[in-house]
Amino acid sequence: MEKRMKFSAWYVFLAIWAVLIIHNIISQTFQVKTISYSEFLGALDKGEIAEVAITQTHIQGKMKTVDSGIEKEQTFSTVRVDDPELTKKLVERGVRFTGVIESTFFRDLFSWIFPILLFVGIWYYVFRRMGAQQGFMTVGRSKAKIYMEEDLKITFNDVAGVDEALEELKETVEFLKEPGKFTRLGAKLPRGVLLVGPPGTGKTLLAKAIAGESGVPFFSISGSEFVEMFVGVGAARVRDLFQQAKTKAPCIIFIDELDALGKARGGMTVGGHDEREQTLNQLLVEMDGFDPTSGVILLAATNRPEILDPALLRPGRFDRQILVDRPDKKGRLDILQVHIKNIKLARNIDLSEVAAMTPGFAGADLANLVNEATLLAVRRGKDEVDMDEFREAIERIVAGLEKKNRLINEEERKIVAYHETGHALVALSVPGAGPVQKITIVPRGVAALGYTLNVPTEERYLMKKSELLDRIAMALGGRAAEEIVFGDISTGAHNDLSKATETARSMVTQYGMDEVLGQVYLEQGSRSPYLGVPGLPEEKKYSEETSREIDKAVHRILDEQYRRAKDIIIRQRSVLDAGAELLLEKEKIEGNELKRLMESRAEAGGDGAR
Ligand code: ADP
Ligand code: MG
Ligand code: ZN
Repeated sequence: MEKRMKFSAWYVFLAIWAVLIIHNIISQTFQVKTISYSEFLGALDKGEIAEVAITQTHIQGKMKTVDSGIEKEQTFSTVRVDDPELTKKLVERGVRFTGVIESTFFRDLFSWIFPILLFVGIWYYVFRRMGAQQGFMTVGRSKAKIYMEEDLKITFNDVAGVDEALEELKETVEFLKEPGKFTRLGAKLPRGVLLVGPPGTGKTLLAKAIAGESGVPFFSISGSEFVEMFVGVGAARVRDLFQQAKTKAPCIIFIDELDALGKARGGMTVGGHDEREQTLNQLLVEMDGFDPTSGVILLAATNRPEILDPALLRPGRFDRQILVDRPDKKGRLDILQVHIKNIKLARNIDLSEVAAMTPGFAGADLANLVNEATLLAVRRGKDEVDMDEFREAIERIVAGLEKKNRLINEEERKIVAYHETGHALVALSVPGAGPVQKITIVPRGVAALGYTLNVPTEERYLMKKSELLDRIAMALGGRAAEEIVFGDISTGAHNDLSKATETARSMVTQYGMDEVLGQVYLEQGSRSPYLGVPGLPEEKKYSEETSREIDKAVHRILDEQYRRAKDIIIRQRSVLDAGAELLLEKEKIEGNELKRLMESRAEAGGDGAR
């Protein structure tokens, strides 16, 4: 918005400038030299005056002047003085003269009115343009672009390395192609599908591919386009968008960068936030209002799901979320293959080697890499792109990415691999930590360098003491593995520690699970948030001594579980090594793969598990 305002300010400036120039040109062609009456008389005496016209106030006429040797006629004007001799003198000199009633109409017209008209014209034009671009005059008309199948040549073949997301989305396409198949049995497809993932992983691309594959109208709009200067415009736009979509059903509405408009509504709204809030409310209303069997599917993408308003994620709204994650090694290879289709590569290029060298690259980074390498080859006058160019391009991009989202180096990768395998190994070795689904060292989000995903078998309402202890052991397993393998620990376990400590503390203070402190509830009393002075410590309902006891108890639990985790890992050191190695190679492994490793080692009698 601000940028466009500056843009139109330029127009105004240009218009003023044009007016001045035109005025200048016109007054030059009608150039009139103003002289004094005595000068006029002097010229008359010298016989330089050719003709005059006398008006009520002025005398105008032509006089001969000599300008650098060339004789010229110059229009002049002088103020008329009441001079009864004048007519006599004019007659004497033989000057033609007429009396006219002064009219400066044409001069005025040309020097002022015309430029002003021009000015108004430009002004009008600017406003019209602004109107078309940002709802200045067409307030409320949605600017959603409608792509039809023909315009969008993107298909699922253009998207690689995000197989899981693709599978889920294919179902959506099927629904759009054959709604009857689903609605016959009364099935409802989710109203809203939210694509979540880091920037550049292909969310926008996926949405376009869906449109291309399903061949239905595709309304695409970016969240930021809803948020306008004028209150109410965004909301009107949402209404309009859904109305348009309903008339074109079956169709897809795609809201890119949903976070721009779906940010959580805060209690503290200052000025402009009202607008976004209205827009968001309207979106929620529309989402509730449309019939999911009508064939309108709402698709949205965001790379910051954590800031979205919780109301957007409620059932019946964006209730299906699809993770579009950074690709693993195989995924990167697939993406590279998509992007080298039109590139002439040298024979010696091994793309899987390129994929191995680019951990942490998202799809957009890989597309960029292929392009950079090609540009380098062109610059060097080569006929085909060589491995050298790829290496150099990787170096360049890595340097850029390191600043942006801290890619991890080889050593760090190794530490992360052992750390994550440590978690998984402990989780698989204790009974109460739940199954391990996958282990990955593909960097994710801002903080997590890798993660071990373990989901409890069923929703848990009650947890036994032993299970809580198992979970603490698992949380500490990462750090334990680091210590055992590298003899050193890193800062990577920060989150694990806080989780473990929190659990241990709750065990002691809330669940009365510590032998020394016994069956007692020791939560700190909390003051009403509206009364207390912020920053003051909360009121304690127990003595300093108890407080010390609590700390000791928490430490006891943590130390004990850390020792336990270390024992487990030391006993299965060879599994840890094998697992970490596999993880380094594949970047992502299933929990079952590690389990199989454990079992095969146990059978071999090596370092027997559990
Ligand atoms: P996002 O919307 O997730 O930020 P985009 O869809 O805009 O990312 O991706 C930008 C570009 O990067 C795409 O146009 C495409 O060229 C490339 N790209 C990203 N992800 C993939 C992928 N999974 N497969 C192929 N190309 C991809
Ligand atoms: Mg995008
Ligand atoms: Zn960890």
